[in-house]
Amino acid sequence: MYTVTNPATGELVDEIPNAADAEVRVAIDQVHRGYAAWRARPVAERAAIVLRAAELFAERADELAAIMTLEMGKRINEGRGEVGVVADIFRYYGERGPDLLADEPLTLRGGEAVLTKEPIGALLGVMPWNFPCYQVARFVAPNLVLGNTILLKHASICPRSAVAIESVLRDAGVPADAYVNVFASSRQVPWMLADPRLAGVSLTGSEQAGISVAAEAGRNLKKCVLELGGSDPLIVLDTDDLDETVKITATARMRNGGQSCNAPKRIIVLGELYEEFADRFAKRVTEYYVPGDPADPSTTLPPLASTSAADEVAGQIETAIREGATLRAGGRRVPGPGAYVEATVLTDVTPEMAAYHEEIFGPVALLFCASSEAEAIELANDTPFGLGASVFATDRARAARVARGIEAGMVYVNKSGGSEADLPFGGIKRSGMGRELGALGIEEFMNKKPIRL
Ligand code: NDP
Repeated sequence: MYTVTNPATGELVDEIPNAADAEVRVAIDQVHRGYAAWRARPVAERAAIVLRAAELFAERADELAAIMTLEMGKRINEGRGEVGVVADIFRYYGERGPDLLADEPLTLRGGEAVLTKEPIGALLGVMPWNFPCYQVARFVAPNLVLGNTILLKHASICPRSAVAIESVLRDAGVPADAYVNVFASSRQVPWMLADPRLAGVSLTGSEQAGISVAAEAGRNLKKCVLELGGSDPLIVLDTDDLDETVKITATARMRNGGQSCNAPKRIIVLGELYEEFADRFAKRVTEYYVPGDPADPSTTLPPLASTSAADEVAGQIETAIREGATLRAGGRRVPGPGAYVEATVLTDVTPEMAAYHEEIFGPVALLFCASSEAEAIELANDTPFGLGASVFATDRARAARVARGIEAGMVYVNKSGGSEADLPFGGIKRSGMGRELGALGIEEFMNKKPIRL
């Protein structure tokens, strides 16, 4: 069942039954049949449609933001911001796509070839609820320009986002058989992946979902891209404005109610700065992040996306404290029907504790003290994940040097996370495989085909 429950109130808003197997087969057939015609369209035509989608996303930002607020509790202003990024991603691929897909002449030792850049077929997208529009955009915009068609299975808590996205694309001119939303259940995904009419899969979500999808993709010899969890480190080497660094760090951690794969979940501060940083960080978190209605633009701390998500995060905090972590701020599940957890700061988290190794997908920051640059790098890398990382320092060259030592898919200097249409995004280790966005993002489901002349 696809179910809309307002996480701010616990109110059940809508229920949509899962698609029957026969409906899913029809949807697969649609995108499979649609592929030949879509790939045959000139790239300029596909790019123009994607550019039109960019305009429509921008025009419908308020409507889409309101849906996300209702379905998964996103703060309304953040929702509008998210749709702005989505429009930018569509604009980027609409504008740059034709150049990125141009033939590349190859000069060989014994002659010449040309590298053509072709689509591979109909793709399945399995998408999560934390950024219902943005996660879809990263996958869909480049692949539509490239000429792949798409079958989209969205998270079962955000069916209205799924429908709204499909109608933007339809109104922009994407044919009904080039992008299809299907209310499939995750249990149907394995046999969908076994269907020869689908050529590949992209999943953003949990490690468990990633393992399952990667196993099925492997069994069926299909390309897969995985964007999974993260426990990103943010290292503060030094700063000439501690309050500003504290503010940037807290904002990055608490963005989207703490439910961002690339939020800085482990904040590592060099020795002499640590105590002062921890005090000010805990104060900022306690004073600024107050639970409220996500539809109210002045709210700073929204609910988590669901009651189960809030219970899980509250349980992780409880376990950490029981195992010996120190609670510096927050820590409690907020009583009431909403899925709220207080903005929380934990210190003294050690490798013996679960919290040291896990991702906490909510408004919870772990603070660590490192006695040297080398120890900070060691701590940063001591995680099963490898999505993003940040390094803060007054000397940018020093920060960039430290960035090279970090095992992650992407590192930011003097800023934290965020997403830019032209900057590749993706992880290593248990954070997944493949890259989205930028020039690399259009290559994942591309047949880079040399024609030897
Ligand atoms: P899931 O990974 O379960 O959901 C993401 C998508 O995957 C949904 O469409 C879901 O469908 C689908 N899915 C789930 N299991 C399978 C499966 N076995 N095979 C195929 N598809 C599957 O996320 P959760 O909601 O359970 O979140 C749990 C954790 O996942 C979070 O705490 C966080 O750690 C991580 N996460 C990371 C995200 C990221 O941005 N990298 C985004 C969301 C979650 P359905 O909704 O129908 O179950």
